[in-house]
Amino acid sequence: MSSLETFARTTLADLDAKALRRHLVETARGPEAAATREGRALVSFSCNDYLGLANDPRVIAAGQAALARYGAGAGASRLVTGNHPPLAALEARLAAHKGTAAALVFGSGYLANLGIVPALAGAGDLVLVDALGHSCLFAGAQLSGATRLRFRHNDCDHLRTILAARRARHERVLILTERVFSMDGDRAPLSEILNLAAEYDAWTLVDDAHGLGVVEPQARAPLEMGTLSKTLGSYGGYLCASRAVVDLMTSRARSFVYTTGLPPASVAAALAALDIVESEPDRAARPLGLARRFTARLGLPEAQSPIVPILVGEAGAALALSAALEARGFLAVAIRPPTVPAGTARLRVAFSAAHTEAQVDGLAEAILALRHAGA
Ligand SMILES: *Cc1c(COP(=O)(O)O)cnc(C)c1O
Repeated sequence: MSSLETFARTTLADLDAKALRRHLVETARGPEAAATREGRALVSFSCNDYLGLANDPRVIAAGQAALARYGAGAGASRLVTGNHPPLAALEARLAAHKGTAAALVFGSGYLANLGIVPALAGAGDLVLVDALGHSCLFAGAQLSGATRLRFRHNDCDHLRTILAARRARHERVLILTERVFSMDGDRAPLSEILNLAAEYDAWTLVDDAHGLGVVEPQARAPLEMGTLSKTLGSYGGYLCASRAVVDLMTSRARSFVYTTGLPPASVAAALAALDIVESEPDRAARPLGLARRFTARLGLPEAQSPIVPILVGEAGAALALSAALEARGFLAVAIRPPTVPAGTARLRVAFSAAHTEAQVDGLAEAILALRHAGA
């Protein structure tokens, strides 16, 4: 056997032994939070499509119209010939939604952070990342070549201590956090972070992947990035910022410059979804309301977002709980390290405007019954 084959197989065997191997499961999603897996019809509590817009007929029609009019792909980087008309329309709307002067659409949220952070910070600078920040925040920080430090999750005292000790040694300081944390569903104390940033002349980037359209923002950061692939039901990423910052990204963010523009259909679909977010506030309020109904039923702390973690601990136990729920018709995928810290494997339950109250109550009752049975 070649050394490559041996490496792949021994690494997989090691992951298997720790219940950390990942498998793809074909999943056909549909309206009303439906997901079909291995021939089984399930109600999904594992999608980030918080308003059910990926299957909304208006969003689909907008994507289809753009596909027919502008073709399947952008054909080149946006700086060459890939800057098709739906992009400017979406950017103007994203900027207006966030109250910034400008916006820039990237290939994905992950790519956005890989481009934004290195365009703002480099060797000699300091990047401070919340310890529970998303993988792409750490990846962007690493790619920048700046000194990287993590501050304790949502801990402004720790952040202040680091800033007080280190600020003078670095020319530029960037703070990276999330409006709603992707695996815990809690929110950053953004106003306090922005005050600290002002005091120490640091720049704050907030990743709004899970906040846009579903939680009321406490404050706005000068750098607001996010994704088109969660609440907006499509695919892509964005940055909302000042005109100068966006213009700088257009020239300097490598993950913007050296990659093909998004397909017109994805952009037009996201724009149609943003229309719905803005024009249907009752729909936008629904996921958080359902999450709170669920936390009340289970006696958990009140949900701060549509994401509710059910902490289990060990990876194998989280997989077993997920399988037991799946047997009852509920899809709640287990989240294991390294996505979450070791010993904090969990089910991450995500609520959508597409869920009914009865579905939410059904999931809560199934979890209570399994707990009662000692599972
Ligand atoms: C999903 C996610 C991203 C990545 O967005 P994609 O568009 O899926 O690449 C970035 N940050 C956070 C916090 C996320 O949850």
